Amino acid sequence: MRPTRTAPVAARADQLVGSVIDSSTSLLAAQTHDVVRFAMGAPAAEVVPTELFREIASQIYTPDSFTYGATEGEPVLVHALLDYLAQTSEATSEERIVITSGGMQGLDLACKIYVDPGDVVIVESPTYTNGSATALSYGAELLEAPIDENGLIVEALPELVAAIGRTPKAIYTIPNFQNPSGTTLSLARRKALLELAHAWNAVIIDDDPYGLLRFTGEDIPGFRSLSPNDPLLFSVRTFSKILAPGLRVGWVDVDPSVRQLVINAKQAMDTCTNVPNQHIVAEFICRGGLDEHLAGLRNEYRTRKEAMLESIQRHLGGRVSTTDPDGGFFLWLTLRGDDARISTTALFETALAEGVAFIPGPALSPGGRFDDALRLCFASTTPERIEEGIIRLRRSLDLMREKV
Ligand code: PMP
Repeated sequence: MRPTRTAPVAARADQLVGSVIDSSTSLLAAQTHDVVRFAMGAPAAEVVPTELFREIASQIYTPDSFTYGATEGEPVLVHALLDYLAQTSEATSEERIVITSGGMQGLDLACKIYVDPGDVVIVESPTYTNGSATALSYGAELLEAPIDENGLIVEALPELVAAIGRTPKAIYTIPNFQNPSGTTLSLARRKALLELAHAWNAVIIDDDPYGLLRFTGEDIPGFRSLSPNDPLLFSVRTFSKILAPGLRVGWVDVDPSVRQLVINAKQAMDTCTNVPNQHIVAEFICRGGLDEHLAGLRNEYRTRKEAMLESIQRHLGGRVSTTDPDGGFFLWLTLRGDDARISTTALFETALAEGVAFIPGPALSPGGRFDDALRLCFASTTPERIEEGIIRLRRSLDLMREKV
């Protein structure tokens, strides 16, 4: 008998865990019935400036728009971005910026540069598991740390770290309107986290796609302004949530001493970020439209979050608890009482059949915690559809209650 041949995959292939979140895109595309989509963290289709993109595209492209670009980013985009950020709390300089293929590439670059196999990486629990999966793909050992309504419980970290007996190499945090919980890291905890990072000589991977989307309350100073010129800060940003995710354009802001490494690493990945799309983003910013666009998004997303909380109160009040985010895309729903016996992983199937989709809690924790919770994206759906989706969610819960 011939021996069964298997492809000689690398040891790290075992650590490539994939993404339930990303897989939901094709799963939902394959559905032929009507589904209210609370699953993906995508901006509302109606707020993407498609017409303007079309007009810009028809005017700005030259043959140069379709050749290779500089790895660090198209100069016209870098300068437009620097000018834009100069009027925000994220003012920065050219020697700190590299344009990336979305936020995901920023996370990959951070992990590629800092994470060796076996290194401990602290992640929030729950977290954006595409980020934790990136750390895993470089062999990280993940340490899940709890969060509360003020974000990562930084006070709990020394004990957690002492228990495993090794200090972390990196701390992965989403400080504003966290994906998936919608919570925001308090000022005191930001300062405490910086102190711990310095004590441990650990890098803070500061992943902030939603910071410009605050719709209530006051901005809290970011890590960059609390600790300027800090080589331990690796800041990952993206246009995905503020413009459009299909553009795949983002940036990282790093200490100048690290930037060449970022460029080297990116050259071994994709040479440069999609050039035509960088030109679209640059022109959009140069025309001065970003502030107005962001103001419109904040208004719309506030309305949608309120609509979702009201619908939840109307149809699920008492059966669930939720977070109440001040910005971003997501809220976190936890089942209570008898409903807490329902697995949200099992609920997903029933809910999909009933015509509503969400991300089950365990998909948002590397260790598969939170089977009594789920993530809802309020950003992509109009208030009327949100109401319909929550009614369907209630129906799905009722069906599951009959089974448990
Ligand atoms: N980080 C977080 C917290 C996110 O929510 C996302 C997108 N869902 C990303 C990174 C990835 O961003 P991008 O789509 O630009 O790769």
